[in-house]
Amino acid sequence: MSLLIKNGRIITGDSDYGADIFIDGETVHTIGKNLSVKADREIDATGKLVFPGGIDPHVHLDMPFMGTFSSDTHETGTRAALFGGTTTVIDFVLQKQGHSLQEALAEWNSRAQGNAVGDYSFHMAVTDFNENTKKEIKVMVEKEGITSFKTFMAYKGALMIDDRQMIGLMEEVREQGGMVTVHATNGDMIDYLIQKHRDEGKLSPLYHYLSQPEVTEAEASERFVDMANYTGCPAYIVHLTCEGALNAVRNATRRNQKVFVETCIQYLLLDASLYEKDFEGAKWVMSPPLREKKDQETLWAGINQGLVNIVATDHCPFMLKQKKMGEKDFSKIPNGHPAIENRMELLYSEGVHKGKISLNKYVEVACTNPAKIFGMFPRKGTIAVGSDADIVIFDPNEEHKLSAATHHMNVDYSGYEGWQLTGKVKTVLLRGKIAIDKNECLIKKGFGKFIKRKKVSGKI
Ligand SMILES: [Zn+2]
Repeated sequence: MSLLIKNGRIITGDSDYGADIFIDGETVHTIGKNLSVKADREIDATGKLVFPGGIDPHVHLDMPFMGTFSSDTHETGTRAALFGGTTTVIDFVLQKQGHSLQEALAEWNSRAQGNAVGDYSFHMAVTDFNENTKKEIKVMVEKEGITSFKTFMAYKGALMIDDRQMIGLMEEVREQGGMVTVHATNGDMIDYLIQKHRDEGKLSPLYHYLSQPEVTEAEASERFVDMANYTGCPAYIVHLTCEGALNAVRNATRRNQKVFVETCIQYLLLDASLYEKDFEGAKWVMSPPLREKKDQETLWAGINQGLVNIVATDHCPFMLKQKKMGEKDFSKIPNGHPAIENRMELLYSEGVHKGKISLNKYVEVACTNPAKIFGMFPRKGTIAVGSDADIVIFDPNEEHKLSAATHHMNVDYSGYEGWQLTGKVKTVLLRGKIAIDKNECLIKKGFGKFIKRKKVSGKI
C-alpha cells in the first residue's frame, strides 16, 4: 500500500519545513514540495504538525512485581501508546537471581510475541552477574539484538546488584559493544529508612517518599558515573529525578565523560505534595518518588542544556485494588504509575505550548534521542527517506482533557485526571500502516514487531 501525506509541517530533531511525504510499503520513499505521485490513499495535513513516531524507552508491561503483575499487557500497553503517538516502546526483561538471561528472555517473549500492537524492543535487566551471565552478554548483543543492560542499585534482596558485579558487568558490556543503564539509588540507605519508618509505625504513602530522600539518588548516581568512567563503559541513568543526581552527571562532563540521562514526564510535572493526600497518594507511589518543585526546574533546564537526553515514562500501571495491597503499609504498595499514552501530549502541552522547550527539542527527547542512544537510528526516530514510516500527525491547537474514563490504558485511574491539554494526536502511522485515526485503533495485536537493536557507542 502507498500513502501520501500532503501539506504538513514536518518537524524532526533538527529541521522544520513544509513538504509532502510519499510512503511506499513500510518506509518513507520520497519527501518533497508538491509531490505529484499517485498513492492508494492521501491524507491532508494542512495546519498540522508531522513528526516521527514517539519512542518510550522505559515501560513495564505485564511485569511480575511485588506479588502481582503490572496491569497493561503488551497488547493493551502498546495500543494505548499508539493512541498517544508512541509507536515503539522498550520494555525490560528481568533476570531471576539464580537463573539465566536466556530463560528470562524466553519468558518475556512468550508474553509479548503475537500480542504487541506497536513495535517494541527489550532491555535486559541483569540481577545476578556471574560467570554464566557473563557469557550470555555477547549472545544478547550479537544474536538477540539486545544491547542495553539494566542494573538496580536498589531493591535490596530482590533486584539489586553490588558494586563488584556492576564493575564486572560494565567491563563485559563495554567489550561487547553495549551500554549499562541503571536505577541509581542507594539500596542500603533506602532499606534502612523503610525499616526505621515501619518500626516507628509511620506507614502512609508519605513515608515512601521520606524513605528515598534526594541524597540516596545523588550518591548512587555519582558512584555509578565514577564506575562507568573507570571502566570506560557507555552509561545511561534511567528515571533521573533530582538536582543532586543531575549535578553528578554535570560534573562528569568536565572530564569529557558523557553519561546519558533519562527523566520521566511525571518528574517534570508532578511533585511530592501529592503524597500528603493519605492513601490516595498511592497512585503516585513509584521509585524514585516524585520530588520538589526546584527539581522540576532543574530537569527542564537540564533538557535545554543537553544534560537530560530523553523523556520517558517508566509506565508501570497497577489497578487501585492492587495499590490497596499497601493500604496499611507503604512498603507493600506496588511501585508504578500509568503514563504511556499521555507522555507525548503532556510534554507538548506543558513543554512546547507553555514555552519551556522548542519543537525540535521536543522531537529530540521524545523520538530521536531514544532511537540514537539505543541503536535504532535512522530506522526509527526521524522522518527521512528509507526510515520506517512511523509518523504522527498532530493538531497543535486542539484542546482536550485527560481522564481515566477516556484513556486506553488498562488501569482504573489517571495520574493526570482532569488536566486540560493543548495539542492532540490525530493520526498515527506505524511502518506505513494507519494505526490510529479518528480516535480508533485500526491495527490488531500481533502487528507490533520486535526491533533488534545495533551496538552502541555511548556518543550521539
Ligand atoms: Zn522502571
